[in-house]
Amino acid sequence: MLTVNAYAATSATEPLIPTTIQRRGLGPHDVLINIDYAGICHSDIHTVRGDWGRITYPQVVGHEIVGHVTEVGSAVSKHKVGDRVGVGCESGSCGSCEQCLKGEEVYCLKGNVQTYNGVDVDGSITQGGYSQAIVVNEDFVLRVPESLDIEKVAPLLCAGVTLYSPLKHWKAGPGTKVAIIGMGGLGHVGVKIAHALGAEVTVLSRTLSKQEDGLKLGADHYHATSDPATFEKLAGSFDLILNTVSAGLNYNQYVNLLAVDGTLVILGAPSEPVSVDAMSLVAARRSIAGSANGGIPVTQEMLDFCAEHNIVPEIELIKASQINEAYERVLASDVRYRFVIDAKTFA
Ligand code: NAP
Ligand code: ZN
Repeated sequence: MLTVNAYAATSATEPLIPTTIQRRGLGPHDVLINIDYAGICHSDIHTVRGDWGRITYPQVVGHEIVGHVTEVGSAVSKHKVGDRVGVGCESGSCGSCEQCLKGEEVYCLKGNVQTYNGVDVDGSITQGGYSQAIVVNEDFVLRVPESLDIEKVAPLLCAGVTLYSPLKHWKAGPGTKVAIIGMGGLGHVGVKIAHALGAEVTVLSRTLSKQEDGLKLGADHYHATSDPATFEKLAGSFDLILNTVSAGLNYNQYVNLLAVDGTLVILGAPSEPVSVDAMSLVAARRSIAGSANGGIPVTQEMLDFCAEHNIVPEIELIKASQINEAYERVLASDVRYRFVIDAKTFA
């Protein structure tokens, strides 16, 4: 067992506090990672605040993790001491179901092991990346290309793959029109990736306040959803709409922006149900879908793609002591565009 410094939530309403946690001793296939940087995902906030149901406290969240391997178990073959590596939303799965065999561990039919607030192999509740070190099975450890700025790369481990995976699944590329709802942590990385894939990219944000940034990051068009004219102008336009919004929406308005055969993919995960008029779907063979972050192979593919296209998130680097303030700023959509914690400051 290894004792490491961390920041934990102790209830749904109290600020996160510094603490220590135990990491398990290395099994034969485990890798010990010294964490360098950890991103703050809106899912961390949903989780600790109980938006998705009750959780066990204390809870250390964080599933955008980048660091270096400091020790490997006796049978590890995929990683070695010194390697630059990452860990995302999942750190285990059954390994034998149809989905795991396809490399879609995130959709494991027996339930994957979430990097935090999951049930680990030893029955304990997993604790995530807001800490100095983590122990993860080698199969769930990603190679992080050296060319990507280590300070900025962590959010790719969740935000990056959560956008890359549906863009690939629904075949975004040259000739396709993609809209991204929400210019936040997920949305801004989605703009960069969709642009690099060759799609025509539109941002649908509440206001035009981030328009200049959006266009700089690779969007071709930028519209305010607070303006009702947007929904008239863009009706029937998009092959694919990716919804990254962390709150409920009037989904009908967005379904009507889809072209014939278009798909609205829900990535943001508010607790409210999704409701749409059946006729809006029927009239143009439109679909509504959901998509979770991504399996290990697509996550590695995304990291390699980002290295090839020199894509890293736009970040604000913070100290551990600033996490609570950062949460308030994420909730107020006042982050450009992802907070990353310098893990040295957990010391
Ligand atoms: P974020 O940085 O807070 O971005 C969310 C964006 O949604 C905001 O920047 C804002 O964009 C828009 N927004 C926020 N409140 C809104 C409201 N009341 N009405 C309309 N738009 C609003 O959050 P994130 O980290 O990108 O995460 C977004 C959501 O995705 C969260 O629910 C998170 O849990 C979920 N998520 C899902 C997965 C998955 O596997 N599917 C993975 C990661 C995260 P504008 O200011 O541009 O309007
Ligand atoms: Zn996340």
